[in-house]
Amino acid sequence: MKINENYLSLQDGYLFSTIAKKVKAFAAENPDAKIIRMGIGDVTQPLVPTVITALHEAVAEMGKAETFRGYGEEQGYSFLRDAIRDYYQTKGVTLENSEIFVSDGAKSDVGNILDIFAADNTVLVPDPVYPVYVDTNLMHGRKIVYINGNIENDFLPLPEHIPAGESIDIIYMCSPNNPTGAVYTLPQLQQWVDYALENDAVILFDAAYEAFVRDSALPTSIYQAKGAEKCAIEFASFSKIAGFTGTRCGYTIVPMALVRCGVDLNKLWSRRQATKFNGVPYIVQRGAAAVLSDEGYVQIMQDIEGYLENTRIITDTMDRLGIWYTGGQSSPYVWIECPNGMGSWEFFDHLLTKAAVVTTPGAGFGANGEGFLRLSAFNNKANVTEAMQRFENSLK
Ligand code: PLP
Repeated sequence: MKINENYLSLQDGYLFSTIAKKVKAFAAENPDAKIIRMGIGDVTQPLVPTVITALHEAVAEMGKAETFRGYGEEQGYSFLRDAIRDYYQTKGVTLENSEIFVSDGAKSDVGNILDIFAADNTVLVPDPVYPVYVDTNLMHGRKIVYINGNIENDFLPLPEHIPAGESIDIIYMCSPNNPTGAVYTLPQLQQWVDYALENDAVILFDAAYEAFVRDSALPTSIYQAKGAEKCAIEFASFSKIAGFTGTRCGYTIVPMALVRCGVDLNKLWSRRQATKFNGVPYIVQRGAAAVLSDEGYVQIMQDIEGYLENTRIITDTMDRLGIWYTGGQSSPYVWIECPNGMGSWEFFDHLLTKAAVVTTPGAGFGANGEGFLRLSAFNNKANVTEAMQRFENSLK
């Protein structure tokens, strides 16, 4: 008997547990402090009314023999895949339903997709990064090459920043980015697509925050770049855009035109999913389809606008204080440089103890995150306003 020893190379999930321990200790010592949490990336707004109605209707259907559903369609119900296809059409992207796979969220598929790639591929991961991309590859023992995000490239590394001499097979991209909130422009995405096409690489594009992009000049899907259907897989989710973090639904797009080693990757992923995944509950898929209805989309956009109003309060404060930041305009995250040369954890401790505000130290997202902090706008306006006042006062 042998275990998968690759798991031993994983770091403990120390980031959020360390934060939780520090917050608990502070709360115990300061029982009257009103702690404001701007650390975790979980939504705070409830599901919108149109989604709730759809969920109720679907529950009622499950209680009647005539409308009860058992196992669903393999890649997700047609009503939801139709809605996703139509949604992509509004982005100028034409998809076939067979290219869409409904999932229980982006995290599972971002990890599971690696089943269809060889373990000796080399993957390119930005630093700082959503830790799931790193850990899921370490579990397979894959070689990881890091590409630096930094102030010089606005935390949007380009193919020119790939370390010299490295041959890359799989490229991770996340735009709008977690943790930095930075968003690639279309010409920048095109550079990555051109690089992948030239080098026979596959891009894994994480679009979990796509609906936060309110600037119509910025891309919301990798397929808006020319030729991306020949080199990219896209992951999307209802979690952050519609409050589905606890309800669980997302989707993955594997284009028919994506062929590597003479093999159709759509067929491989379909085979993988049919073997290891039995689908998302009918009830949840009805809720997800309601998100993409005209009425539902207007409602989720109101929530997104609310979160973006919070990021404006944050970025206005940073502007006033002369603190460097990126993100916020098209993302629920603002990524700030710690003032006065403080380290990530040092400034985290400063804000916790002097302002009772919880943030996320950038160092938890990779070596290049040291000296930065992620502020999450998933909160209400009153809390964010108060947190920013306390932030400002703490630096006086
Ligand atoms: N991708 C990114 C970049 C994320 O930040 C997150 C969640 O924080 C996910 C994927 C996971 O999303 P889901 O809830 O759909 O699994």
